[in-house]
Amino acid sequence: MTGERIYVSHETGDLGLVQDLFSTVKNFPFDVHIALEEVESRQSRSRLQGRLANSTVAIPVLTDQSADSPWVNQEIGYAQAKGIPVLPLYDEESHLNGFISDVEGVSIDRQDLTVTIFNLLSRLRSLLEPLGALSVPNWYVRFPCTVPDCGTPVILEIDQSQTKLWKRHRNGNFLATTCECCHSTYVFDPATIGFVRRQNPTG
Ligand SMILES: [Zn+2]
Repeated sequence: MTGERIYVSHETGDLGLVQDLFSTVKNFPFDVHIALEEVESRQSRSRLQGRLANSTVAIPVLTDQSADSPWVNQEIGYAQAKGIPVLPLYDEESHLNGFISDVEGVSIDRQDLTVTIFNLLSRLRSLLEPLGALSVPNWYVRFPCTVPDCGTPVILEIDQSQTKLWKRHRNGNFLATTCECCHSTYVFDPATIGFVRRQNPTG
């Protein structure tokens, strides 16, 4: 799992939602490309199709605002024509129409984004996780240690199944990893792989 590219297609007004949904996905070693974080213009949008063509998976975010968007629908059609898997996130089932009426997506629960992010990660994991040896951790996040003057890359390896991760979340049983250099510990929510807190080494 390296070098995968995720292309997120959405409408301008949904950028806040998109950023909330993808804040932790960005810590995985994917190249997450959120279309409208770039300047919106016809020219930049057509350049984006080049990026879409090189994507591993395309994720349209379908809301009342975007379901009828010509851009979003064009990008879905383009991805499908190129054989790129499309993983729709949607507010309502009725948003799954046209090209993607039969595609399994992830429902957005705006009251509980934790569930939505968990389901998104589950689908991405099954799409992207290679069938490698079980002993090789291939699902992980990597980030620079945030202790001033440390900055060492810290890795959280995720070897438990999504089912186990959800159980841990329900039990309040966090995931943790330690910076090899300064020994600070980082704690994460098992469902969203969202950062919870950093604990400085004691003693
Ligand atoms: Zn450190």
